This record gives sequence, C-alpha cells and structure tokens, in this order.
Amino acid sequence: MLILVLNAGSSSLKFNLVDMEEEKTLAEGIAERIGISEGFIRWTIQGEKGRLELDMANHKKALAAIMEQLKHTVLGEDQDVDAVGHRVAHGGPNFGDSEVITPAVLKEIEELAFYAPLHNPASASGIRTAQELFPGVPQVAVFDTAFHHSMPEYAYTYGLPYELCQRLGLRRYGFHGTSHRYVAERTAALIGKPLEASKIITCHLGNGSSITAVHNGHSVDTSMGLTPLEGVVMGTRSGNLDPGVLTTLMEQEKLDGPALSALLNKKSGLLGISGVSSDCREVEEAMDKNKRAKLAHDVLCYGVLKYVGSYAAAMNGVDAICFTAGIGENSPGLRSWICDRLGFLGVAINEEINGTRSKADRFISTPDSKVAVVVVPTNEELMIAREAKRLTSNN
Ligand code: ADP
Repeated sequence: MLILVLNAGSSSLKFNLVDMEEEKTLAEGIAERIGISEGFIRWTIQGEKGRLELDMANHKKALAAIMEQLKHTVLGEDQDVDAVGHRVAHGGPNFGDSEVITPAVLKEIEELAFYAPLHNPASASGIRTAQELFPGVPQVAVFDTAFHHSMPEYAYTYGLPYELCQRLGLRRYGFHGTSHRYVAERTAALIGKPLEASKIITCHLGNGSSITAVHNGHSVDTSMGLTPLEGVVMGTRSGNLDPGVLTTLMEQEKLDGPALSALLNKKSGLLGISGVSSDCREVEEAMDKNKRAKLAHDVLCYGVLKYVGSYAAAMNGVDAICFTAGIGENSPGLRSWICDRLGFLGVAINEEINGTRSKADRFISTPDSKVAVVVVPTNEELMIAREAKRLTSNN
C-alpha cells in the first residue's frame, strides 16, 4: 500500500511517499514559494537528491510537478497512490480523531479557519488539489489537535466567562498531537511498558515547541492552547504572558490586533529576547559571549523544566521524559540544563551518551535513574500515513 502524505502551507507543499508494507519512505521533499516568483521543488527520491526551479501558480501546479517526478522514479507511469493523508493544523472542538474526507469534513476544515487563519485554508487547498489530481483515491485528514481531545475539562478551560468561551470555542486545544502521539508510543516501547499503563512527558522542541503529559496513552495536558502561541518561548513566538502585558501594549504602544499578533508571533521568543536569532543553534553558538543569547536559552530551558515538573504532578508521577524535534533531538546542552534540575524526581542522565550525536531512538538516562530519559526523532509523516492506512484499508 502506497500512501502520499501532504502538508500544505500557504506557500509550500511538503510531501512524503510511504510504502506501508515496510513503513519505508520512498520519496520526500517540498515545493516552496508557491504563488510567488522563484519557486522551486527539492526532493530525495530513493536516496537521490534533486531540485527543480519552477514557478508554480498554485498548489495544483506544485502537486502535478511533484507527481511528475514520482512517476518517473518510484511510481510506474500508470500507478496511483492508494490513499492520501493530509496534515491539518486545527480540528477545532469536534474532530477528536482522524477523518476520511467527505464534503462535510472539508467544509468544517474550511470553517475552522477562524482558529487557524494561516494554516487551515492552506490545508483545505491541499485537500482540494489532491481530490482533483487523484479522483477516487481516499483522502484522510489528520489533525494536529486531535490527540489532545482527551484532556479533562479542568485542563483545557480558561479562566474567562464560561458562556463567552462556549460561544467562541475559546479553550486549550493543543498542537503537535501527531508528534506527541508518535514519540509517546516509541517511548513506551523503549522502556518496555504498555503505553496504556505509563506516565510519559513528551517535549517537542523545535521552531514551535510544546510539552504534553501522556497518561495511559492519552494526552491529559499540553502547553499550547487555543493557538500555537501558548506555552514555552519559541523561535519567534512569545509563549506564556501575563494577559495584562497585552492590555498594557495596547494602551502604551497603541497596538491593534494585527500589530499585537505580529509582535507575539514573529518578533518575540528566542529572537526577541536574544536579538541574535530565532534559531536555537545560533543562539547557543552566541551564548558564551552574548548575555542576551544566554538569557533567551535559559528562559526556554526554565520554561520546559516548569512544565515537566507540573506534568509530573498532574500525573502523580512520571515513568519517562522524551525529547524530540529539532532542538529536543539535537541540543545536549538544553537536555542537561533541564535534567540536572530534575534530581528531586530521581532523574539522572549519562552526560557522555547525552553528548553523543545519533539519529536513533536512545536512552540518555543512567540505568539507575528513577525516570527514564529518552531522545526519539519524531516522524509525523509516518504517523499520518498509518492513520490514512487505518481509516482506508477497512473501507
Ligand atoms: P519545526 O518546528 O519548523 O519543524 P524543527 O523541529 O526542525 O522545527 O526545529 C528547528 C530548531 O531546531 C531550530 O531552532 C534549530 O536551531 C534547532 N536545532 C537544529 N539542530 C540543532 C543543534 N545541533 N543544536 C541546537 N539546536 C538545533
């Protein structure tokens, strides 16, 4: 069974072609600058890298060009994919699971643009494009929010007037659900405990970052909220703030909604604090000589530490802590900063193993650590492909 995984952004389209017999990625890549000049597609197909300069007016042109490359390499001329899995950012209050796409599902994804104005319209455009290019091929939507539907009401409720929250759907939804679910499953397998009987804290730390408490296989709390702004500081996003900061900025700087949104989403976080970069690696490189870079890094680490502590309390214990995504997988310094302060939970890591580069799932805790600490490279695309297979192979 061949599954095409698509992740459509407003001007980009990421793709992965997965052979589900061996869960092997046959091809992956991205079309960038769609609808803008100087477009290009880059890919790795069966280990071979390639690149094509191509102006693409829309997602349909981009997907047609991607399929052209696949047809001449991994797919036979007349061979189609068996299903398409789409990453969809926001599933709103109703989608607690992946869905086979019907006209009603697509309509609701479009209506959810209220919550994710940049992301959901792009996902919907990716879905329409794939429906046009692959008529009759089943399509599945996998929502970034769905895994967090299991949160108890007391974890997702904001302290605002109840009726207002009900009317506008204001609540914590959480994101990166596909990644948290994938790495939680891998972590349970690594520690040799059934997922259904384990307490795992997953730290997805990349350009966007979130931390999740996974109790018996279910997300019971997560750091992102109504939007991906809540939680720890990120590349350019502020993370948690006293809401009074917003009213102060509105009054003192005369900022309106769009200006506030731009400040909080694009100019804050590691970039805003350090003034150096939104990129954690560059912040770490500058840290020895630049006090603000060091401060930005410490604010991030401290934020993650506090979530880990509070989620251990939320689950009344923790079996394993998992680090994933660009920073979580690649920054031994950040992992040490956090784990060194978790001695009260019985966490102990092996610094030599922590400092050794690897792309494999691995333990960084010592054998006698009371809590396992693991690094698991995330694989959201594989999870989406598995979901597409699960929902289409019984039909
Ligand atoms: P996205 O959220 O866009 O998927 P990634 O998961 O790819 O992001 O994470 C990107 C982040 O990972 C960047 O801040 C980058 O600096 C960081 N990163 C990658 N390699 C390293 C490294 N060796 N050390 C520290 N940070 C790293």
